[in-house]
Amino acid sequence: MIIILLGPPGAGKGTQATRIMNNNGLVQLSTGDMLRAAVAAQTEVGKKAKDFMDSGKLVTDDIVIGIIADRIEEDDCKSGFLLDGFPRTVAQAEALDQLLINKGLKLDAVVEMKVNDESLVDRITGRYTCAECNQGYHDTNLKPQKAGVCDSCGSTNFNRRSDDNRETVVSRLATYHAQTAPLLPFYEAQGVLKTIDGMADIDDVTVQINDVLKQL
Ligand code: ADP
Ligand code: ADP
Ligand code: ZN
Repeated sequence: MIIILLGPPGAGKGTQATRIMNNNGLVQLSTGDMLRAAVAAQTEVGKKAKDFMDSGKLVTDDIVIGIIADRIEEDDCKSGFLLDGFPRTVAQAEALDQLLINKGLKLDAVVEMKVNDESLVDRITGRYTCAECNQGYHDTNLKPQKAGVCDSCGSTNFNRRSDDNRETVVSRLATYHAQTAPLLPFYEAQGVLKTIDGMADIDDVTVQINDVLKQL
């Protein structure tokens, strides 16, 4: 199964990708996570990507297409994958179509997570993750059961992303509307677009996505 989670920054793509991956045995492919790892490791890709990411702009298509093209060749992608944060431009979507055609694969569904812009700023400025296992949390919406201790691995170290600040969020939202929203009619025309209510509770969103997957 090949699924895309599509939605603005903070829509809940990463949160849901982790849950769906655990339930369905799909691998989560997050270009944001891969790019952050490249920046941290100071690779050539990381050096090229850093300024774009810091300012809330998209990294160039050739870089992210290259990352995904390499990644889907790996063994763990054989039984399917869930794309989180890719594609983000029509050029990336066209490149993905071509990559899938070359491998004889087809895209099963694009799940659009619809969320109001106003709630996205709160979601992003309250977001943090476990420094050890990357489990996601939120200051008010999703706290660890025991304050300061990760539910999944017991770590007491957490990270906040440097681009999760109010100014960069505004720029990231504008980028989404200008460059990523055109993917909605693109996938609608392919007959694969499924829209769900991303404003619902986290558990309810998971139910909605699982319902879409069951119908495939
Ligand atoms: P979000 O939480 O906003 O959905 P991501 O972690 O997916 O953010 O991405 C963080 C940043 O990494 C983006 O603002 C952008 O600079 C870069 N990025 C991630 N995926 C892509 C992509 N498919 N194309 C271009 N840039 C990307
Ligand atoms: P994305 O990957 O789309 O950028 P995340 O999954 O990281 O978004 O979610 C952004 C923040 O919002 C996280 O702190 C997460 O805990 C929180 N969150 C995710 N889904 C919901 C929801 N349905 N309701 C309230 N908060 C949510
Ligand atoms: Zn953890």
